[in-house]
Amino acid sequence: MTQHFFTGQNPNITTETKAFVTRYHGLFIDGQTMPAASGETFDVFEPSTGHWLTSIAAANSEDVNRAVQSSRNAFDTGPWPRMTPAERELILFRLADLIEQNKQLIAEIETLDMGKPVIEARDIDVMESASYCRYMAGWATKLDGRVTQLSAGPGNFGYTRKEPIGVVGAIIPWNFPFSMACWKVIAALAAGCTVVLKPSELASLTSLKLAELAIEAGVPTGVLNVITGDGQNAGAPLMAHPSINKASFTGSTAVGKMIGKAAMENLTRVTLELGGKSPMIVLGDADPASIAEELAAGIFFNAGQVCTAGSRLLVQEKIYEDVLLELTKVANNLVVGAGLDESTQMGPLASLAHKEKVESYINLGREEGARLITSNRDMDENGYYVSPTIFADCTDTMRIVTEEIFGPVLVASSFKDIDEVVSRVNNSSFGLAASIWSNDLKKVMDITPRIQAGIVWVNTHNPIDASLPFGGFKHSGIGRENGPEQIEAYLETKSVWINHADS
Ligand code: NAP
Ligand code: MG
Repeated sequence: MTQHFFTGQNPNITTETKAFVTRYHGLFIDGQTMPAASGETFDVFEPSTGHWLTSIAAANSEDVNRAVQSSRNAFDTGPWPRMTPAERELILFRLADLIEQNKQLIAEIETLDMGKPVIEARDIDVMESASYCRYMAGWATKLDGRVTQLSAGPGNFGYTRKEPIGVVGAIIPWNFPFSMACWKVIAALAAGCTVVLKPSELASLTSLKLAELAIEAGVPTGVLNVITGDGQNAGAPLMAHPSINKASFTGSTAVGKMIGKAAMENLTRVTLELGGKSPMIVLGDADPASIAEELAAGIFFNAGQVCTAGSRLLVQEKIYEDVLLELTKVANNLVVGAGLDESTQMGPLASLAHKEKVESYINLGREEGARLITSNRDMDENGYYVSPTIFADCTDTMRIVTEEIFGPVLVASSFKDIDEVVSRVNNSSFGLAASIWSNDLKKVMDITPRIQAGIVWVNTHNPIDASLPFGGFKHSGIGRENGPEQIEAYLETKSVWINHADS
């Protein structure tokens, strides 16, 4: 394999980014960077060119044991769970500041590794992660139990304590690598837990950077270990490890189900954030021209590699053709290109295999008889680019409608009335998110409680906030991230009964 001279092709990156990407990348255990026990590595490719970028240590079960033991020791005997809540809060505030100070570096690493536009990586992924870190840091000092009223009468006192659940095994996908790493790690740390994180093989670099920043912020060694490697050799042994107390997974529904089963063997607590096929429902009173850009962002943001992507569009009959016309104009004019080019609106997909999977769905859409209404331009063959794609007149049984494509492909159809659209969107195994586009308050309030989804947006799609729970109904997951609900998932409740009656 010849080393790709990426700095020549990407003159925009800082010397700091170049230094980070070109240095040795090992596992991060006990505050040290180290090779895998087997000495194996895996290669990382740059999505905008397909060129080799670097290689990273590939963990197997021996490394998983080492990392879990380190986090176990840090939890059972180390300082982190024993610090005062205020000390933990302060360290996490420092981590938030470091994330913000390193925003350009983290964003450039993310773009080289995963392909997304650098401006989005910096201003959305990294900056929202800093806000998230501050929000969760604040919870460290607010984890109160409650005093209960025992019916046994005087001389009996009951209360609950919230205690950290223990060692967390966490696995994340590649679509928002840094944000997902922060989501998995920081709430757990705020609760007083320790974590072994396995990022996706396709985008591991910013997880390694997060681990370094955590040490710099004052998080003790062993509290956050990062093992890099693939799902089978590193992910599966981590999730099935008898010494973890909590398995927290974000990824596909198929893998999530396997992880849930493995966790039950040890009765490990589980949070699963899984896939979706989220509808955008446009009611007849909406103005097609004024919502077209936001609808387009609902599907094409992050090249459609978003678990909540508005990948299914349902438009009320009378404005159906107008909405499609406006949306197609936006899609056909989107600037698709390398993520480091600041004029890029949509980057390449994260891997060659994923690009091929998305393209196979586009071919399938044609075969299933859907109407392709976008121009589907020729893309640069070297990078993993896919043109923004919209299929109209889709029927609900087409596979492009029922399956998650996870790329820049929108499937559209029309509907007559609210009962019809509610029943059609609920007729899905997924239930992650939905959006309703209308200014008719009565209709919005009628539809919202009837939609089977963990999040319903109105006149927007995809925004998230650290305070607002995020997660799925049905096959889209178990549990919630963000908000106090997420902290709760990293705590056990202990009940205490004190008999202080005269004996
Ligand atoms: P994936 O194939 O399920 O992989 C996710 C992670 O699991 C990766 O780190 C992967 O490692 C690892 N993995 C794979 N097989 C495993 C196994 N047998 N045991 C343990 N770990 C295993 O999903 P993906 O294709 O990377 O990501 C896209 C999916 O994630 C989509 O379905 C999307 O909807 C979902 N997602 C959900 C949310 C949410 O919050 N609900 C957010 C983002 C993405 P390697 O890839 O390194 O092998
Ligand atoms: Mg990559």
